[in-house]
Amino acid sequence: MPAKSPKNPTPAKPLNPAKPVRARAQVIFALLAARYPAPAPMLHFTNPWSLLVATALAAQCTDARVNTVTPEFFRRWPGIADLAQADLQEIEAVVHSTGFYRNKAKNLKAAAQRIMAVYGGEVPRTMAELITLGGVARKTANIVLGSAFGINEGIAVDTHVTRLAFRLGLTKNTDAVRIERDLLPLFDRPQWADINHFLVLFGREVCNARSPKCAPQDAPPCLLLEHCPRKGLK
Ligand code: SF4
Repeated sequence: MPAKSPKNPTPAKPLNPAKPVRARAQVIFALLAARYPAPAPMLHFTNPWSLLVATALAAQCTDARVNTVTPEFFRRWPGIADLAQADLQEIEAVVHSTGFYRNKAKNLKAAAQRIMAVYGGEVPRTMAELITLGGVARKTANIVLGSAFGINEGIAVDTHVTRLAFRLGLTKNTDAVRIERDLLPLFDRPQWADINHFLVLFGREVCNARSPKCAPQDAPPCLLLEHCPRKGLK
């Protein structure tokens, strides 16, 4: 019998095709909740504005890199009003290492200006208002609402959520809006922020893009293997 390899693992038990996807999603949630008892964003933040800034800077950049940039960012511009009046080139210089720095600087300054002009200097607390801010789409808005305000308005879909939702057979779609639409009914509203954190953490540690650790020879199999159709990997 050939040895198992990460590229061709044999599930411990065959996936039950009759098991409704929501029931399977709930099993997956429970297993990940046991693995990650205190889920939270990897980005450092102290309030809704600092989470919005950090999330915007994290586009196409690692959280670790962003966490090295935000201390200087908030030293120079501690509040929203400070950034609204900041010199654009100075912002560009500070966020340069996160990539796409011109767009990020422009959008963050525009977001700060709009918050000052329209929302009284406070980060708004609704999806409809948040997505009017420069550079803020549903993903960033969901993260700010869920993790800074404790409001479960949707599920933030980033590259990890996209990949894992597909491999786990929770969606057949590959674009963020449709994936979020598919995921929402599979989880209870209070689970929405946490399932994002779980999939991001598990995507980094186990189910990574290039070499998912489904059934490594030198370690226990993935804890989701029994419940995962491994879509796109066979
Ligand atoms: Fe493999 Fe990822 Fe499925 Fe785990 S969740 S079995 S690592 S594809």
